[in-house]
Amino acid sequence: MEALNAHNKEEYPPMHTAEHLLNQTMVRMFGCERSRNSHIERKKSKINYVLDAPPTEEQIAEVERRMNELIAQDLPVSYELVTREQVPAGVTLSKLPEDASELLRIVRIGDYDVCACIGSHVASTREIGQFRITSTSWNAPQFRIVFKLQES
Ligand SMILES: [Zn+2]
Repeated sequence: MEALNAHNKEEYPPMHTAEHLLNQTMVRMFGCERSRNSHIERKKSKINYVLDAPPTEEQIAEVERRMNELIAQDLPVSYELVTREQVPAGVTLSKLPEDASELLRIVRIGDYDVCACIGSHVASTREIGQFRITSTSWNAPQFRIVFKLQES
């Protein structure tokens, strides 16, 4: 659509959609912000969050459990175009490029997540597959999650 800015890189839709779900899950569990530092790739992705303290093993397992629960719910991904004045409350625009068009695309995953994004997403969350955290690391205040997706 011409009103939208071209995306600067091709993303693998299942991984990129998992990034949306993981951002919202981290925001809800830890009260942190959505990640501003991620490397999302087809085989393995890395994503950093700024936290006050490192999560426990139990909390990390809970992140993975919630992600797979959301995927199993097969939440639909939907879109709407809005002007900057119509952006829903709580949606941050900080990750958009400064030259982002006046018309913004809002992406919703069920009633769980909403954000402004011009990337490529799956149609519903079951297409993501199984979500697996392969490792985590803590380098205060950065908490890094490395994750993979597997066919389910
Ligand atoms: Zn997106």
